[in-house]
Amino acid sequence: MKTIGLLGGMSWESTLGYYKAINEGVRKSLGGLHSARIAMVSVDFEPIEQLQHAGDWEGTARILTEAAQSVQAAGADFLLICTNTMHKVAPEISSAIDIPLLHIADATAEVLKNEGIKTVGLLGTAFTMEQAFYKGRLMDRHGINVVVPDVEDREMIHRVIYEELCLGKTESQSRKDYLRIIDTLSDLGAEAVILGCTEIGMLVNQADTEVRLLDTTEIHANKAVEYATGDHSL
Ligand code: GLU
Repeated sequence: MKTIGLLGGMSWESTLGYYKAINEGVRKSLGGLHSARIAMVSVDFEPIEQLQHAGDWEGTARILTEAAQSVQAAGADFLLICTNTMHKVAPEISSAIDIPLLHIADATAEVLKNEGIKTVGLLGTAFTMEQAFYKGRLMDRHGINVVVPDVEDREMIHRVIYEELCLGKTESQSRKDYLRIIDTLSDLGAEAVILGCTEIGMLVNQADTEVRLLDTTEIHANKAVEYATGDHSL
């Protein structure tokens, strides 16, 4: 079994979900008392969040590059950045390490393609919903059309992520708001909606809606298990 490298802590609430999903996946795949071989560095999120909102992405890349090198030095065979947003600096991180990066948008696109989904809704931080590093990758590399909520709804989704979910809070009003937006995206033609922020699965899940939801934490974790337990490489 390969060792899965995790760059976590963004937020730690969602890294918990990764840890659990990966270990459950390995148990399901290998049985018995098998559990995942994991090398993890979990960063302090506060300074990262401040740099993000100040637009200092180079600053975030410096912190995360060093953390990724530590994950590699701890014996990881490949790396997962456990947040959609920080894939903004995935190229910088990737070029500073020798192990492969399992990109969260590529793992998600693979599920979309397997299900024949061509137009998808995207929920995430404003950075993820608005910038090219994520939406652009889905469109240009994978040929998937991406629909995002309007500006007011994007602001609300972003605020809920940083002021509630990353602090472990799940409010029923926020759940209602997210479900309303998921319906709107579906009405706009989305065949499924990506929960493109690793905390959103704490607030809404498939049992809450008829619209097909793709939880990026689950997808990313499952893909990591597949690579760690299988014999193909990234
Ligand atoms: N975990 C979140 C994501 O998947 C947001 C926190 C962050 O800014 O990294 O985008």
